[in-house]
Amino acid sequence: MEERWLVGVDLGGTTIKLAFISMYGEILHKWEIPTNLSEQGKHITLDVAKAINKKLHELGEVKHKLLGIGMGAPGPVDLATGVVYEGINLGWKDYPLKDLLEVETGLPVMIDNDANIAALGEMWKGAGEGAKDLVCVTLGTGVGGGVIANGEIVHGISGAAGEIGHITVVSENGAPCNCGKTGCLETVASATGIARLAKEALQKSTENSALREILENNGTVTSKDVFDALHTDAIAKQVVEQMASYLGLAIANISNIMNPEKVVIGGGVSKAGDVLLAPVQRYFEQYAFSRVAKSTKLAIATLGNDAGVIGGAWLVRTKFGNY
Ligand SMILES: [Zn+2]
Repeated sequence: MEERWLVGVDLGGTTIKLAFISMYGEILHKWEIPTNLSEQGKHITLDVAKAINKKLHELGEVKHKLLGIGMGAPGPVDLATGVVYEGINLGWKDYPLKDLLEVETGLPVMIDNDANIAALGEMWKGAGEGAKDLVCVTLGTGVGGGVIANGEIVHGISGAAGEIGHITVVSENGAPCNCGKTGCLETVASATGIARLAKEALQKSTENSALREILENNGTVTSKDVFDALHTDAIAKQVVEQMASYLGLAIANISNIMNPEKVVIGGGVSKAGDVLLAPVQRYFEQYAFSRVAKSTKLAIATLGNDAGVIGGAWLVRTKFGNY
């Protein structure tokens, strides 16, 4: 039988990542196009269709080679209809993404939230290593989450399950969050949250700090600056401890409910690697139920920016691949 390819698409606010992927999850061809945000994002589906056709043409392949498209969208999604309730930064409101993309490509399409799709990618080919019960926490500009139980994403009654970033971890006098609440995990564990914690710590202290010099010279201090200064700077160490305690607490509470095989930490902040994982692991063990702490493993994500396209391919394989 001729081998078919899966198409993974990861829709972001600035770029759309696309890939042709084998039935075994290997990326065969990977490329990007810019996200056209004009006219409330109405050109996006046609741009994706054209990009797929152009790549097929370049490779001398025909549409039949493709089994279907799995796409991650930034925002909550109605799975049954493939409608994006709200496309964050795209201008979409109750947008029929699945239907439009099916019409424009002639291929079957599966849609889910981007953080959920990234979790599927890590489950299949990344740090999850095939674990069927897995939680993925993505630490980027915000904090995203995906919860997989028995191999399937948990969506909840309104598509809002797994919003780990909006777990309240600072119950009093927390910083405002983009969601309208205060004290969410996102306000202390995202790249922007870590930078904010660093600025607060510098304001409260008169101690000499490499971070203070960076703040004075650049007008800002980033999460990467904090991790880079970790071993030489007391304030950087204090900020990472603070962030790790909140993240460890949130992961412990999720794990007490799920007792997943793996909790995978991804996103730009996770590039810090072991210096992030070690303190989070320590707080996780402090806060989790002991049987959970012993059996649930924490790991840094391994797929980076490819998690979304691989997770999209997984959706197509599961739905249309007769597995
Ligand atoms: Zn929030």
